[in-house]
Amino acid sequence: MDEGDGFIQSKKIVVLGATGTIGKMTLDVLKRSEEFEVVGISAHQSAKLLLKEKAEFPGALTALTGDRAEDIDFCGDHAIEALMEKTHPEQVVVGIAGFAGLKHAITAAKYSNRLCLANKESIVAGGDFFLKSVKDSNCEIIPVDSEHNAVFQLIDGEKSPVESIFITASGGAVRDVPIENLKDVTPEMVLKHPIWNMGARITVDSATMFNKGLEIMEAHFLFGFPVNKIVAVLHPQGKVHGMIRLNDGTIKMLASRADMRLPISYACHYPKRTENFEGFSPFGELTFEKPDPTRYPALNLAYECLNEGDGARVVYNAADEIAVEAFLKKKIYFTDIYRIVEKVLENNWPKILNDYESIEAVDAKARRLAREMVKRCC
Ligand code: MG
Repeated sequence: MDEGDGFIQSKKIVVLGATGTIGKMTLDVLKRSEEFEVVGISAHQSAKLLLKEKAEFPGALTALTGDRAEDIDFCGDHAIEALMEKTHPEQVVVGIAGFAGLKHAITAAKYSNRLCLANKESIVAGGDFFLKSVKDSNCEIIPVDSEHNAVFQLIDGEKSPVESIFITASGGAVRDVPIENLKDVTPEMVLKHPIWNMGARITVDSATMFNKGLEIMEAHFLFGFPVNKIVAVLHPQGKVHGMIRLNDGTIKMLASRADMRLPISYACHYPKRTENFEGFSPFGELTFEKPDPTRYPALNLAYECLNEGDGARVVYNAADEIAVEAFLKKKIYFTDIYRIVEKVLENNWPKILNDYESIEAVDAKARRLAREMVKRCC
């Protein structure tokens, strides 16, 4: 970027998953930023919304991965690759939801210098293989997931050794429902998240804490911390997003408004802060508790999976995705989500997965077994 004579040359940026919650917020952030030129946007199937978004960013090329539609520049399996090849962006925001984010994030890393990564599944399922692919492409990752973005900010520039990291959890929408009544909570009850505005799966995952389980795995790979040095903390107010404990026992915390546009903007503009997200107050109560393992068994299951090796993490994510989908369609009870994932994990899964095809095969098998379990629950 050349700012020498007041002229700012904009950076080319692509937004993958532009019609999802993160994608829409990213475009909202980029609309107000003078630093970026949005050269590409992608969606899986929402062609109409994608074209509507293009009207605001006329220079952007469009890609649709799961469908064909008129007026879209690239469609089908290789749409993302074609979009990258044509635009060669400096940065890519990966807002794609679910396992599909893995292969597209690998592709995006080949063509760009920075991934602003909101897709936690790529790190969870891809593990070391994914991180190596990104590194080999000379690309950096700035996490967008709010807790990891917070920990990234806390560690960045810290001169003292960091002993452990803490990621906070709101506890989800049904955190005050007595445990014995959890079986009967409905999707409508679970989808009313107390703090964050997010997609459906992640909102259900917040209530079961499968989301926090995935985030513990994400933190392990992103920051290279051993499993026993990553702690989930129940913090219902949603003001503090991450903490680090330093070698003298001091705990540094990061607090900010619970608005995903903030970590998105930070990841895009890093190391600068360019927009003032007002409306955050330090006043009021802040509480931190240990999550109850009986209410949130998904947490301990995540630690077990991390110790189990590569296959278990892929399964934890894939089986949960299927179970949540079934819960949202009212095919299974809320508490069946955990039961299904735990049951699918009981199979023998490979300890090491070091290429995309083997990861994809485990993912597909876990989904198939989870679907069979759903049928048995119905
Ligand atoms: Mg998060």
